[in-house]
Amino acid sequence: MFDVTQSLSNLKGIGPKRKTVLLEHGISTYYELLTYFPRRYLDRNFTKDIILKQGDVVTLLGSIVDSYIVHGKKSRLLVGFRTLNNERINLVFFRGVNFFQKLFAIDKKVVVSGKLEYFRGYQILHPEYEFLSDADDPEDSIHAGRIIPLYPSTEALKEDGLDSKGLRKLIHQVLEAGTISENLPSKFIKKRKLLGRDEAFRNIHFPDTMETVQIARKRFAYEEFYYFQRLLLYKQRERQKVKRLLWPLPKSPSRTNLEKNLPFELTEDQKSAVTTILSKTNSDSPSAFLLQGDVGSGKTITALLVGLHYIDNHIQVVFLAPTEILARQHYQTIYKFMGNMPFLGIELLLGGENKKTRAEKLSRIKTGESNIIIGTHSLLQEDVIFSDLGLVVIDEQHKFGVDQRETIRAKGKNPDILAMTATPIPRTLCLTLYGDLTLVNIKTKPKGRKPIDTRWYKEDRRAGVYNSIRKYVSSGRQCYIVYPLVEESEKVDLESCTVAYENLRTTVFPDLKIGLLHGKMKSVEKESVMEKFKSGEIQILVTTTVVEVGVDVPNATILVVEHAERFGISQLHQLRGRVGRSDLESFCILMTGDSISEEGRDRLEALVASNDGYYLAEKDLAIRGPGELLGVKQSGLPEFKIADLVVDRELLDEAKEDASSIPLDDPNEVSELRIRFSEGKFLFAN
Ligand code: ADP
Ligand code: MG
Repeated sequence: MFDVTQSLSNLKGIGPKRKTVLLEHGISTYYELLTYFPRRYLDRNFTKDIILKQGDVVTLLGSIVDSYIVHGKKSRLLVGFRTLNNERINLVFFRGVNFFQKLFAIDKKVVVSGKLEYFRGYQILHPEYEFLSDADDPEDSIHAGRIIPLYPSTEALKEDGLDSKGLRKLIHQVLEAGTISENLPSKFIKKRKLLGRDEAFRNIHFPDTMETVQIARKRFAYEEFYYFQRLLLYKQRERQKVKRLLWPLPKSPSRTNLEKNLPFELTEDQKSAVTTILSKTNSDSPSAFLLQGDVGSGKTITALLVGLHYIDNHIQVVFLAPTEILARQHYQTIYKFMGNMPFLGIELLLGGENKKTRAEKLSRIKTGESNIIIGTHSLLQEDVIFSDLGLVVIDEQHKFGVDQRETIRAKGKNPDILAMTATPIPRTLCLTLYGDLTLVNIKTKPKGRKPIDTRWYKEDRRAGVYNSIRKYVSSGRQCYIVYPLVEESEKVDLESCTVAYENLRTTVFPDLKIGLLHGKMKSVEKESVMEKFKSGEIQILVTTTVVEVGVDVPNATILVVEHAERFGISQLHQLRGRVGRSDLESFCILMTGDSISEEGRDRLEALVASNDGYYLAEKDLAIRGPGELLGVKQSGLPEFKIADLVVDRELLDEAKEDASSIPLDDPNEVSELRIRFSEGKFLFAN
């Protein structure tokens, strides 16, 4: 046994220079080195028989046959590499041309890996590489004649001799130091047939077969999930120590009144969501909910009905929305719903308001005169002080970061949290991210909603698309035409949106009323355009992704998305949710150019085939992976080293079951959790 937390200084070959560079890569202890897992393995037997296929990520052994620089607009280096199968592959370098030409000397034996592409023959762009000694060094059995682990390295590490091979030597040394102790309860190891920790480390770094790699991998994935679930348990326990200070009324006259006057019948799911949420608000400690419901399922009214139980007890409710347009819409919706009731003190707080107005609003919020406060990020500012904030509703919560959610929570008196999302989060992700929130689902949509007819068209159909728009708009419907806008190319994107608007206004539909709406417009302009669109005065709204979430204009039934290939599945589904918000038949037209990547094709076809947000989210997760799917970097998603939320779903379920079956009372474990996840702060909002 040896202490895995000891410093690397105890290893041979670690001087101050290497120590520093390793530290810069987050490696300072034996443990951190042991969990610096191989990215790939080189299995020599496998390499000989490999069938090369374009698009595959390959690891190949071979030697350098030639190299030359191709001069052009941008010079590039082509290094000829020949595999054991006598297949020629060009290694292509755009950067460091001279450096790499020297490095890849003729006849050198090298292992390269990367994605195989085809361009006048096979090629790999900027491959990862590792040079082998000329004769396979028989003394150095960790580098030859077996399955060899390849470690990710960087230029900085390589400079200090810590290329894949150097790292391998270090890790081998650590494994030689002794046995690594187990950290999982033995009963779970038995039950789940997991590999012991010591053996798992040995097998993941120096496996005998590729099967053993998988078995070792499984153990570490389980371990990560297990400790993550224990962390959630710990957070839950800490949260239960927080005392509820504000109690919503079990019976709310305002709610009864509102329900009586609603212009529609609530769906069963809406009703049961309200009941479920309220049933937890009589507990001694505040609760946190995640209300999930596909676009258009009616979450706003659900949250409002819950909120009235607080308001009737003079407790403040805040609605946080990601965009001004959405905040304003919530304000109007709520105002309209509450219209026939005594004034309840509804406040709208946006950024960029004049000082005096803001000061007046802030004062009403502070004294408690305002009961429902709706707003954007401007609610997060320090000058916003509540008198008795007891419920925080966060709309489109995936648009906010963990710390923002925490900021607004901290302004309340231990408030309940109701986070809402229309991006259905695949179940696995949900368990991971929000494992400590109470999940409430609205599965069904209001009666009478028809599925949205989604089509994918290329340029040759544009005239037809414009004809259809004209036809529907003339019969009284309205239409959105959406242009992509991403931060990196914001200026160009905005320009193409405005140019298109001018063209549509003057040339294509000179007889129709067209409006332009984008995020860079002044607040009052945005408001007036949105107002005109809502009232039907504007018939076609040319816009950017500012309308992506939440916007509700039921009479709009056609949505055209330009450059649809530039959007992700979930984003397109959200956008599509702008139509189909009444019992009118609706259309979503996805326009693209002619050449679309295979992945883009998959996405568009998925949207055409399905209207089911949950199905599409699973699809999105499979195509893009969890980080991309959630969009926001600071989404609070833990970074697992090995575990994969897509591949290891079942393992997550098992780890969850196990982790919640034994008490959390060992102080050592609690402190381990604190170290593993440097957290403590985000008890609710995560
Ligand atoms: P989302 O869940 O996407 O936030 P909204 O709350 O904006 O959806 O509701 C979408 C539209 O459906 C709104 O116009 C809303 O007034 C309406 N709505 C909500 N519940 C019902 C219902 N039970 N029956 C009919 N229309 C409803
Ligand atoms: Mg909404």
